Amino acid sequence: MLSVEDALHKILAETKPTTQTELIPLISAFQRILSEPQFSQVDVPPADNSAMDGYAIHTDSLSTQSPLNISQRIPAGQAPHPLKENTAARVFTGSEIPVGANAVVMQENCEADQKTVFIKHSPSKGDHIRKKGQDISKGSELFSKGRKLHAPDLGVLASAGIPAVSVFKKLTVGVLTTGDELIPPGENLLPGQIYNSNHFTLKGLLESLQVEMVDLGHIPDSLTATIEALDKAAKKVDVVLTTGGVSVGEEDHIKPAIESLGKISMWKLAIKPGKPLAFGHIENTPFFGLPGNPVSALVTFLIIVRPFLLKAQGLSENSNETVFLPANFSFSKNTGRQEYLRVRIENSQLTLFNNQSSGVLSSASWANALAIVPINTDINAGDLVETLSFAELGI
Ligand code: AMP
Ligand code: MG
Repeated sequence: MLSVEDALHKILAETKPTTQTELIPLISAFQRILSEPQFSQVDVPPADNSAMDGYAIHTDSLSTQSPLNISQRIPAGQAPHPLKENTAARVFTGSEIPVGANAVVMQENCEADQKTVFIKHSPSKGDHIRKKGQDISKGSELFSKGRKLHAPDLGVLASAGIPAVSVFKKLTVGVLTTGDELIPPGENLLPGQIYNSNHFTLKGLLESLQVEMVDLGHIPDSLTATIEALDKAAKKVDVVLTTGGVSVGEEDHIKPAIESLGKISMWKLAIKPGKPLAFGHIENTPFFGLPGNPVSALVTFLIIVRPFLLKAQGLSENSNETVFLPANFSFSKNTGRQEYLRVRIENSQLTLFNNQSSGVLSSASWANALAIVPINTDINAGDLVETLSFAELGI
């Protein structure tokens, strides 16, 4: 059996980021991945401006105790004139500071009428002035290639005057489910049938990664049908994903089908849930055969397929922050596989779902994290356990 770490290492070593890019409007770029670094076209802010409603003055003009004449009024958005010596300019939050002023006195510290202002508390140089370029300086690199754009990033790019960005094209991921027992929700269950849940879980998982799921339908449990479906799929999409049929039972056709079409690189993984997992290529199209059990499909997607897709999408950084939290349970079942337990993080502790069967998908809906138990490790109550939260995974 191959360890999760070794499997990931092998897969990622073979993963080439996409080279397909497109220029898209900034407004549509949330969570897209930059294919070029971005540089600011301007200083942000482009000029000194006021952080307060008040009066812009030069501190030298405060040597006498007399009021200053108000020589101009500068609403935000209007270009100021240079400040006349020994006068004040009425300013508002965001007003550009006139040349010749070096501080803003907030209006609460002033007594003013229409024409003059008396400064009650002398300011220091620079008070309440937001300096030109204090946020971003012109020409500086805002984001490097491979950055996934977060909400504040969109604002940063806009404030730097950038209306459109070049991003990697969304990958297309073809999803096929297998199993003669499966029918879609909406139909009546006949004896022996169950509803297809993996299809829907995968839709959510793929959407969370900003890849495009292409529904390639359902494969009956037959080798010829499997070969035919996979062959077609590989010609249509960037990546092919299947669920089920990946063990070695006589109703499992994924492995022989891939062997006849391309090559399977690995398929026995020291992971629980999810031991049978296929990774290979059909011609040049990467292929993942996920296990059929719903929790196994979920976990193997998150742990193996997700890092692959992120790299293939062109993401430069691809690490998920784990946290170490104390378990309020004991767990000792040496399976020789790394275990991913469905747990809930509550009050900074981990609670275990009472049924860890790979067929019990409600365990994953109840949970908000996976606790990672290394191979042949026991957990005693109070032990710190490495945990990957669903929030961190964005699912
Ligand atoms: P398999 O890997 O095909 O042997 O499937 C393992 C288990 O997962 C069986 O109990 C299947 O009925 C179930 N299963 C397979 N595919 C799905 C699916 N798409 N949705 C729900 N359960 C599934
Ligand atoms: Mg099956």
